[in-house]
Formats: sequence, structure tokens, C-alpha cells
Amino acid sequence: VPKTKAKAGAAPKAAKRRVRLTHPDRVYWPEQGITKEGLADYYTEIWRHIAPHVTGRPLALLRCPNGIAGESFFQKHAWKGLNPSIDLVKDPKDDAGEPLISISDLDGLLGLVQSAALEIHPWGATTADWEHPDTIVMDLDPGEDVPWQAVIDAALEVRRRLEDAGLAAFVKTSGGKGLHVVAPLKPKADWTAVKAFTKGMAEAMAADDPDRYVATIAKAKRRGRILIDYLRNQRGSTAVAAFSTRARPGAAVSAPLSWDELSPAIGPAYFTVENMPKRLAALDADPWEGFRGAAAVLGEVKVSRGKSR
Ligand code: ATP
Ligand code: MN
Ligand code: MN
Repeated sequence: VPKTKAKAGAAPKAAKRRVRLTHPDRVYWPEQGITKEGLADYYTEIWRHIAPHVTGRPLALLRCPNGIAGESFFQKHAWKGLNPSIDLVKDPKDDAGEPLISISDLDGLLGLVQSAALEIHPWGATTADWEHPDTIVMDLDPGEDVPWQAVIDAALEVRRRLEDAGLAAFVKTSGGKGLHVVAPLKPKADWTAVKAFTKGMAEAMAADDPDRYVATIAKAKRRGRILIDYLRNQRGSTAVAAFSTRARPGAAVSAPLSWDELSPAIGPAYFTVENMPKRLAALDADPWEGFRGAAAVLGEVKVSRGKSR
């Protein structure tokens, strides 16, 4: 019988490791020499920043038992021998299905590290309210030959449209190739409404500026353009968590930024396991201070068609 003790927004507690790591010297990022223990240290150090983004929600994991150079697989269901610090949660719409994975504290996160989860991808809803998302993610995917400034411009355009709809907008690097613009929601609108809103926004951007933006996945159309990937916003979809590591060379992390930090000097993989703790210590604040408090209710689907420039 799976235990189901996950709760949303568990309060960060003092960082002290209780989860036993087997093979702590196993190397996950060979170029940087970052080991399993090094990853545990990273998450312990930044725990209070990542906690609100990874606790109390279903998670998909990219697991890489032999580090980024080895085999990797996406996993969203619980498995045999799962670390007891990890919670099993039942999707209320999939009663017969296998339990999903969730965590509620630092031990849970370290349990994920023990399981070689090198990327953490939460749902945009909590296990307290599965049917009403509390987060929108607009995923900006630049095609080949798109300069970084164009991705920044796209993020600013998404921000303007979110704000026009009464929502607050925050930005993070993906740790890969693009940016994610994230809006906190009060969980009132359902998945159908949230997906329709984000689809409308992506299609409006592509209609207003077809030389810059596309809203459909078709690869051929993407060269020189930016895909406004709204499909993170449907039930069961995920996006990489703020502060999660990426299983890619460079040991980059998905890094929350303030809007005025966006610049060609800070690329999508600029912040890493190695420099993020120093950044947070120097900032002496969360770069997304006030994120959850800025949550608003998504109203009627209302997407502005006008150009901003
Ligand atoms: P990049 O900036 O390089 O695009 P990204 O994290 O945005 O990085 P995408 O390929 O755009 O990568 O994918 C967006 C999200 O879709 C991912 O963060 C992940 O949550 C989800 N995703 C991607 N690939 C898979 C997969 N194979 N299985 C499940 N979910 C996936
Ligand atoms: Mn992306
Ligand atoms: Mn994408």
C-alpha cells in the first residue's frame, strides 16, 4: 500500500542530511568532477530556494545511474526499492495506475539524488489540487541560428502578454538552450482553461510575428525562429524545476533570474552547480522573491493581438 503523505509547499527546514548515499563518489558530471555526494551538497545548500518548486507535486525524473555520459531514462512512476524518503502519490484520475513520485522535504530530495535523478520535472499543479494548476510555464525553444537577444525579446513579449492578462511573470534559464517564463496561479482555472489560454498566447505571438515565432512543434518551421512551447501546460506535462540540475555537459542548472539580469552575457547554461550557491549567497535573497505571493487567478481567455513594438 503506497503511503500518501505529500503536502503542498512544505516549509523548508534546517538542512541536515539523513539519507544514506551509496557510492557517494560516483561521478555524475565527469568534466566538472561532480559526484553524487557533490550533488547532495548542492541541493542541501540551496534547499530553501528549491523547496517551493519541488515539494508537494507529482514529479517526473530524468535518471542517469552512471552520470550524464551513461544511459538515462525518464521516470514518472514509483519503482521497487524506492528510497523511503520519497512519497508515493495516486493520481486521482488514474486509480488503477501505478503511483507517481512526490517529495515533501530535503530528505526526499536527497532520496532523489540517491536514485541518480539528475533532472527534476514537476507538474504545474500540487497534490493538494491536481485539477487546478498553480503554475504556467511558457517554454521558449530557439531554433538554429537564433541570437540570444531574440530569445530575451520573446521572454519580454510573453511577460507583457501575461501581465496584460493580470498575471505576474518570472523568468529562468532552462539550463539547456532556452528560457522559461513562469506565472504563478491561484489554483482556480482547470487544465482545459490553462492550456487554452497558453495556446492562445502562443498562436497570437506566431500570428503577429510569423518571422520570429512558431507555435507548433514541426521542426522544419523552426529554423531561425523561436518555438513558443505551450504544451508544458496540460495535465500530466512537466517542465524542469527552478534550480534543478540538467543532465547535460557543463552541469548547468535552471536558474531563476530577475528581469533586469536578462542580457546576452547570461546565456541559458550560465548558472551551474558550481556557481549557483555563490550567486545565492551573494544575492542574500531569492531571485524570485515573492513568487508564490504574486499568484493570481486566470480569468477569461483573453489574449491581446496587438504588437508591443
Ligand atoms: P531547452 O532550453 O534545451 O529546451 P528544456 O528543459 O526546456 O530545455 P525541452 O525539450 O524544451 O527542454 O522540454 C521541455 C520540458 O518537457 C522538459 O523540461 C521536460 O519537463 C519535458 N520533457 C522533455 N522531454 C521529455 C521526455 N522525454 N519525457 C517526458 N518529459 C519530457
Ligand atoms: Mn525548452
Ligand atoms: Mn520545449
